[in-house]
Amino acid sequence: MYTQEQKERYEQVIQAFTRHKPDSPNALLAQWQENKADLYNLLGGLKVEKELVVTPSREDVVAVVDQYIRDFNPLFPSPVFQALRKVINPSDYGYEGDYTDIPKNTSNFTQEQATEMGLQRYNKGQKLGAVLKSLLPDSGTYVLRGKERGIRDAFDLVWSEIVQKFKATGKVVLSIDPIDYLTMSYNQNDWQSCHRIGGMYQGGVLSYMADKVSMVAYAYNGKEVAYLHNGKEFKWNSKQWRQMVYIDIPSQTAIFSREYPTENPVLNKEVRKMVQALFRKINGKPIQWMVTKQQNNLHETYEGGRGSTHYHDVQSGWQYRGQSGNHYGVRMRPALQEPAKIHVGTSPKCPICGVNNVSNGGSFLCSDCRNRCSCPNCGQSTSENRLVYIRREDGSRVRMCPHCLQQSGARQCRDCHEWHMPESMSTTLDGVCKKCRNANYRICKTCRVIHRRSQTYQYNGANYCRTCYGEALNQARRA
Ligand SMILES: [Zn+2]
Ligand SMILES: [Zn+2]
Ligand SMILES: [Zn+2]
Ligand SMILES: [Zn+2]
Repeated sequence: MYTQEQKERYEQVIQAFTRHKPDSPNALLAQWQENKADLYNLLGGLKVEKELVVTPSREDVVAVVDQYIRDFNPLFPSPVFQALRKVINPSDYGYEGDYTDIPKNTSNFTQEQATEMGLQRYNKGQKLGAVLKSLLPDSGTYVLRGKERGIRDAFDLVWSEIVQKFKATGKVVLSIDPIDYLTMSYNQNDWQSCHRIGGMYQGGVLSYMADKVSMVAYAYNGKEVAYLHNGKEFKWNSKQWRQMVYIDIPSQTAIFSREYPTENPVLNKEVRKMVQALFRKINGKPIQWMVTKQQNNLHETYEGGRGSTHYHDVQSGWQYRGQSGNHYGVRMRPALQEPAKIHVGTSPKCPICGVNNVSNGGSFLCSDCRNRCSCPNCGQSTSENRLVYIRREDGSRVRMCPHCLQQSGARQCRDCHEWHMPESMSTTLDGVCKKCRNANYRICKTCRVIHRRSQTYQYNGANYCRTCYGEALNQARRA
């Protein structure tokens, strides 16, 4: 499922993000491979890619305009907004009912209807940008991005950005490649999310990578770019847009989660089409989909997997609704089936040690590996709390990994519990260091057995054990 070369690239990214080289064999990759096997078979590989079609239909353009109208709401009077939406033909969206407030059969939008909507100057075939601009007041100013501009100047700026969106060439991808999870919010396109490296939920990407249902959908320009992170270089795509897609294969249900950086109707449509194509592969025929954006319906299907550490956009994304206009989820399921639960995310293995699980979404590593460092003695990577201090004969201390500790022959003193080099251990008393031997023990003058100092007695400047002390006293009395 993952070639040696791909593994090496993956390890490069892990190393750049965490500063540590993964132990081998890589338990997180094994977990990914096992859990993603079904999605791998469904995709027929690590990803499916589709060239972005750069000749948008009128509907595509209007849908993007729709988004911009929401972003720049005060620029466009509400009736214009409503009217524009009516020229959209919903059947082209890949399924019915996405834009639920668009009535059916509006594709034969007539001049009469346009007039009725207040679009007097609307003509079929007229350029959309020109129509929109003509609807704006001739004079007046508008504050756009903190700068006051003429209303029509502001519009020109927004419109040029819209047109720019359609000039971009690239690819839409549906992927289960581990590196696409790691870089789900890491790019050179000036956007990020809480799943970015260093973000509040940076480790959540592992939860997605290791589960059974999550795929990364994204758009990029078709080229790889070079990244430099923590002084480490690697190459990967730079995501212009991204959305997580959760798929339950048995029930053929899919949730399309929040879009970053903003909702993009052209791209999310492509992604839905790609998912439909996958299910069509199983069924041999198109499915009759039921589509909903309803929060309740999403919640009956979405459930965080046990031990999952990612941020639950579907459950909590509503908090951000007003800010970017992002919706936080669309669900598609076959009309004839009961809604299924999709368990999103899981408890991921630590990408470095593979021994512990990562339980904190704020971290990429388990608590042991968070304290990783290199052994001052041999230089091997190890966990900070596995390093042991060893006392040398001169009193100074060295730190060593468990391996070096074993090699060194150092022993732990049963009195002070410190580790000591062999030469610092007592030669007369086993398991005790020289210092403790001298401080805590005395040799009995008579029987020559070493006893704890607390159990010895002094007499005439000499030490005796309890028995020999008694005898010494008796002898003295007899003398
Ligand atoms: Zn670890
Ligand atoms: Zn070592
Ligand atoms: Zn000791
Ligand atoms: Zn004695």
